[in-house]
Amino acid sequence: GYQNVLKENRKLYNQLQDLKGNIRVYCRVRPLIGGHPNHYGTINNIDEESISLIIPSKNGKDGKKTFSFDRVFGPSVTQGEVFSDTQPLIRSVLDGYNVCIFAYGQTGSGKTHTMSGPNKLTEETLGVNYQIRNTSHNGINVPDANLVPVSSPSDVLNLMNLGQKNRAVSSTALNDRSSRSHSCLTVHVQGREFASGNSLRGCIHLVDLAGSERVDKSEVTGDRLKEAQHINKSLSALGDVIASLAQKQSHVPYRNSKLTQLLQDSLGGQAKTLMFVHISPEPEALGETISTLKFAERVSTIELGAARVNKDSGDVKELKEQIASLKATLAKKD
Ligand code: ADP
Ligand code: MG
Repeated sequence: GYQNVLKENRKLYNQLQDLKGNIRVYCRVRPLIGGHPNHYGTINNIDEESISLIIPSKNGKDGKKTFSFDRVFGPSVTQGEVFSDTQPLIRSVLDGYNVCIFAYGQTGSGKTHTMSGPNKLTEETLGVNYQIRNTSHNGINVPDANLVPVSSPSDVLNLMNLGQKNRAVSSTALNDRSSRSHSCLTVHVQGREFASGNSLRGCIHLVDLAGSERVDKSEVTGDRLKEAQHINKSLSALGDVIASLAQKQSHVPYRNSKLTQLLQDSLGGQAKTLMFVHISPEPEALGETISTLKFAERVSTIELGAARVNKDSGDVKELKEQIASLKATLAKKD
């Protein structure tokens, strides 16, 4: 029945994962603000695994540049479709894996939208009895991190709302704090495997990163400039870590930022990492869009082009087809 199809899907997904390694980079393009979902702005073409941009030139002969990813989601792709593509990864937390999902992109490109969706849950009061337990992780102080027991999806959504509210509150106090800070929601899952009775522990981190836009040094000074440089440093340190994991290098530079130190247990090894790279299709955003895509290309395994193509042509293709047909079966049942 349904459970078996889900299980089969997960098994195939894990096989695919074994073949391709544990790092994925997905690209998502949001709709033009106030525009038609089929108008792509600076985007020339999108297919399942690549995106090409129109690069205007002064002589009137516009150029094109193509970037490849594990998956590309165009502006008309719904939250549901994105979720269903990501679900096997999320479910692997139940198999005891650690999972990190990052949202990267300039401010306004759709990071928070992907991570929490148009979250219109009415406010419910949070239980007052939640405990503040965890103030240190991997030897790093995380003074404001709370570990709260949850028992339902709405508990989690409420916490996410609270986190978002806290982030928004400080934004009025200090120059748009929400785009100049990383936010991380971690869900720890413990369970018992039905057949063996073994206990399993997994955790998933949902990381809504600070806006990736470069700051104009002429516009900011002092603390604000320092902060911006610090953010850019931590984003590029994260990029370096993911790139070296993707390329299976022996040295992974976790220690270059607090973010990567904090998440070290969940990056690399058996852990699974997914980076959602977000693109704004507006012409004004083109400069940032190009630098975002270059960043993303660097963190993905694209540079190992030959190896990737080889794998893609054979087993991966077959597994992908099987997964697609299982997905179709699942869709019929919904
Ligand atoms: P960021 O977190 O990167 O700053 P947001 O997630 O807040 O960006 O998105 C900016 C705006 O665009 C929001 O109003 C959001 O609702 C909208 N938006 C982002 N992505 C999509 C999408 N895929 N479909 C529809 N609206 C989107
Ligand atoms: Mg945001």
